[in-house]
Amino acid sequence: LSAKLVLNTPRIIAIANQKGGVGKTTTAINLATALAATGKRVLIIDMDPQGNASTGLGLSSAARKVTTYDILMGDAKARAAVTPTGIPRLAVIPAGVDLAGAELELVERTQREFRLRMALADELIDFDYVLVDCPPALGLLTLNALIAADAVMVPLQCEFFALEGVSHLVKTIDRVRKAFNPRLEIQGIVLTMFDRRNNLSEMVAADVRDYFGAKVYKTVIPRNVRISEAPSHGKPVLLYDLKCAGSQAYLHLAGEIIKQEGGLAA
Ligand code: ADP
Ligand code: MG
Repeated sequence: LSAKLVLNTPRIIAIANQKGGVGKTTTAINLATALAATGKRVLIIDMDPQGNASTGLGLSSAARKVTTYDILMGDAKARAAVTPTGIPRLAVIPAGVDLAGAELELVERTQREFRLRMALADELIDFDYVLVDCPPALGLLTLNALIAADAVMVPLQCEFFALEGVSHLVKTIDRVRKAFNPRLEIQGIVLTMFDRRNNLSEMVAADVRDYFGAKVYKTVIPRNVRISEAPSHGKPVLLYDLKCAGSQAYLHLAGEIIKQEGGLAA
């Protein structure tokens, strides 16, 4: 019998929006946990110098031995930075405070836009999904994420200015696709912090669906106090309160993403 070597290539999804506070980190942590709960092997890469994804997963500074900074600088292999979270099938490449300097330091390096892609090449066969939690800016860190990724997921907060700045993000994605990464797709748009008692949420959701059409997930993440409490316990909301509306929404979102496997419409 001939043994056939099948290398698994994970789907790399950058979670990006240059606005802060729209739910990028919350989506990274909770979507990752929901995917892991369904049996997928998931890695979160914390690309935000704030390190909120690492903290929200309960990682102390001491537990962040090899970090995103180290792999961007080429000082460590991605594999060496993969840190267990204690949650089955979910690992993280954590961010430390040094990542704040990376944006400037990278400017001096060769192939500064490709550092993450180079670090990940052939390294991540143990994962089905890699979610990259981007910082709230379209600088070199986010650019590295978009160039390493197969697709971008954009969380949009259901508030008045939701679509402001989105055209800039879409242009950036188009530019990255043309110049650096032709395979980059939009994985989907996820509406976050939806408040059904507020008409504005409904109006914003309708606007976003007009603009992005079928790219917008059916699942809408509700504004839910349990979601905002969970990070202070160092836990994803699914482990903090599985039954709450927030946990259930992220499980539904994971279901939609798994359904997308095997091809997205361009
Ligand atoms: P970003 O990473 O885009 O800056 P975060 O995910 O950190 O945004 O979310 C910003 C704040 O809003 C955090 O305090 C988070 O706990 C809270 N938050 C995010 N999503 C929800 C939600 N669905 N319901 C309630 N609070 C939320
Ligand atoms: Mg964040």
